[in-house]
Amino acid sequence: MMFSSIYSRGAVMAGMFLLAGRLPAQTKADYPIQPVAFTQVKLNDIFWEPKIRVNAEVSIPYTLAQCKKTGRIDNFLKAAGKLPGDNYTEFTFDDTDLYKVIEGASYSLQVKPDPKLALYLDSLIAIIGAAQEKDGYLYTFRTMKPAKPHDWIGSKRWEKEEDLSHELYNSGHLFESAVAHYQATGKKTLLNIAIKNADLLVKTFGYGREEKFPGHQIVETGLTKMYRVTGKKEYLDLAKFFLDVRGPGRANSQQYNQADKKVVDQHEAVGHAVRAAYMYTAMADVAALTGNEEYLHAIDDIWHDVVYRKLYITGGIGATGAGEAFGDAYDLPNMSAYAETCAAIANVYWNNRMFLLHGDSKYIDVLERTLYNGLLSGVSLSGDRFFYPNPLASLGQHQRSAWFGCACCISNMTRFLPSMPGYIYAQKENHLYVNLFVGDTAEVQLPAGKVKLVQQTNYPWEGSDVITMLSQTKAPFALHVRVPGWTNNEPVPGDLYAFDGGVAKPVKISLNGQSVNYKMEKGYAVIERAWKKGDKLEVLFPMEVQRIVAQEKVKADLNRFALSRGPVIYCLEGPDNKDSAVQNIVVDKSTAVQVAYKPELLKGVTVLEMQGSSTKRQLNSDELLKVSQSVVAIPYYAWANRGPGEMEVWIPYNEAAARPKPAPTVASRSKVTASVNNPRMFRALNDQYTPQDSRDASASYLHWWPKKATTEWVQYDFDSSHTISSSQVYWFDDGPWGGCRVPVSYTIYYKSGDAWLPVENTSPYTISKDGYNSVQFKPVATTALKLELKLPDDNAAGIHEWIVK
Ligand SMILES: [Zn+2]
Repeated sequence: MMFSSIYSRGAVMAGMFLLAGRLPAQTKADYPIQPVAFTQVKLNDIFWEPKIRVNAEVSIPYTLAQCKKTGRIDNFLKAAGKLPGDNYTEFTFDDTDLYKVIEGASYSLQVKPDPKLALYLDSLIAIIGAAQEKDGYLYTFRTMKPAKPHDWIGSKRWEKEEDLSHELYNSGHLFESAVAHYQATGKKTLLNIAIKNADLLVKTFGYGREEKFPGHQIVETGLTKMYRVTGKKEYLDLAKFFLDVRGPGRANSQQYNQADKKVVDQHEAVGHAVRAAYMYTAMADVAALTGNEEYLHAIDDIWHDVVYRKLYITGGIGATGAGEAFGDAYDLPNMSAYAETCAAIANVYWNNRMFLLHGDSKYIDVLERTLYNGLLSGVSLSGDRFFYPNPLASLGQHQRSAWFGCACCISNMTRFLPSMPGYIYAQKENHLYVNLFVGDTAEVQLPAGKVKLVQQTNYPWEGSDVITMLSQTKAPFALHVRVPGWTNNEPVPGDLYAFDGGVAKPVKISLNGQSVNYKMEKGYAVIERAWKKGDKLEVLFPMEVQRIVAQEKVKADLNRFALSRGPVIYCLEGPDNKDSAVQNIVVDKSTAVQVAYKPELLKGVTVLEMQGSSTKRQLNSDELLKVSQSVVAIPYYAWANRGPGEMEVWIPYNEAAARPKPAPTVASRSKVTASVNNPRMFRALNDQYTPQDSRDASASYLHWWPKKATTEWVQYDFDSSHTISSSQVYWFDDGPWGGCRVPVSYTIYYKSGDAWLPVENTSPYTISKDGYNSVQFKPVATTALKLELKLPDDNAAGIHEWIVK
């Protein structure tokens, strides 16, 4: 598109800032397309409304309570001098969890008034205000203990901002929260705190003053939001400065924080995925607000790099846990997929901005895929258990947690879900975009007049979407109905994934029961007419079950396919399948698949049923036992709600890709204990999963990090007495960057009565990486075996697998 067309003026702002009349709404250049604010959209939806209700009724109160319980609120009270003590919580960005949950609660209040919650937010905002220093500085970790701050904080303000202090990250979330609170409640209490802080940043940062870039991006989008609400141009200028000041030649210029190159010279997605996607979002904002074309070129290229090379089929981004970062092109491992929940949320923010710039439905295709899969998987159906990484395969080592020391994903989820209705519609002059198919009633002011419409649908389970006009406008307008790429043989834009065989049936569109003429424009069916009250547009999406294959370069998905139906990606999970096992399942790609809606299962899901086969190893033979069985797939977002177990998205269609279910062994039937506090790690020892090498984080492992130089142990208790004469152990070692190395030494003991005696080894104890270390010993008849190891002086150690025979 021509760049000049990204400018638009005046009227379209009305949608976004309906409530901003209390401050002068700025009418400068902005996105050519404007979102229809979630406040103008009232949900009546079978899928999203219950999830947003659980967020309001469970997740938000729960997260607020956790902020109290973990000391995050006390951080503010201590900084304000209202609570004795100067011991802060764990991370220098802990203040942001409170900001984010206030943002979520504010949105939630607007959907459903709750005077008690409103009052509680007021009290929290008063505490935040009290913790703010006179000149606007707001950062509890320094204020409560200026003389001896946290290791990540310099002795002077901003000194370690580019590294780990997160001072500007805290400001960014404060700004986002303050704007949401103001727009939702009309109260300026939090906004005034944010303005005071933003004014301090304006005074402090800039060329010739503090020339520093934010270590973790978010302050940039926070500032563009503050600019829109207050009209203060210096906030926008500062957002642009924070982008432009990134670049090579500084002490902290790294790929990790997207500062190895100037932002306009960046054309590939690198480094920490959440930081990156927040930055791309900010670049879109500043491009829209200032007309900067160079930013656009950069983020267009980066989008291409992500979608064509670095995107999980679930919409997850950031493949590797090392640096929580984008991996190399096509390197998309499944079991060790990081795909942080925050990165999925950031991916939605970014793709929505790309759509508002370009008006192309391909961005919403990515947004929708992310929303229904890799984002929604971040929270349990109950609303109080969470995933930080969102893997695409599991042996049961992944479970949702009630909390994380680093709670970013939890508070991010609380603020995202209530804002979700804001992604359904968008508008530009007399064009109204329908981007998502969600049951709702919406009111949108167009130049042609006020449009009131209702969407009725059982999407994503059924393909019918009926849009009924409840109003009549004085002039015609164009309805742009998104025709998802997945109805047109593209699981997501680009060539990273494709549907295997089978051309999708076309979308059917009818108006008042008659076929209707429409033109296709940038992925939208455009119907322009003088809409009358009562007009009914029915869109019928083909809800075919599709098999997705990945490009060959994606090694992790070789000989495998994924199942999708509409926007939903499916997975196999233990509870629905024979022997609670799924890694051993093989399904022929041409197998017929039955579709069934199960109202009682996982709060109501459509499942897929098919015939497949599974393989098992036998104890005394190399021959695999193969049986045919029925195979059930559930929506990926709903996995891990029934306890730990196996899961996989990419299903082998070839036996070479499947992992036969191992035969039970003495070890696999043992009860595991170890000198670690986390019993979740126990099953790694005897899960019979052999890693590719010692550093293979895809396989589960047990570790003693961050201990050093101690003596530790693992123990097998057998169901009865067994005669054992050998041990094979596979060490975990994630050097040179990780904290685990092979141990200094180890010894095997067996239980004799109440005593532990060392075995008499007949071969030497070896310690090497990337393979099993075997030791033979004189046979012992025993009920328990113990492996004792000594950690290196400077590192911990870990074990992938321990076999005894
Ligand atoms: Zn996170």
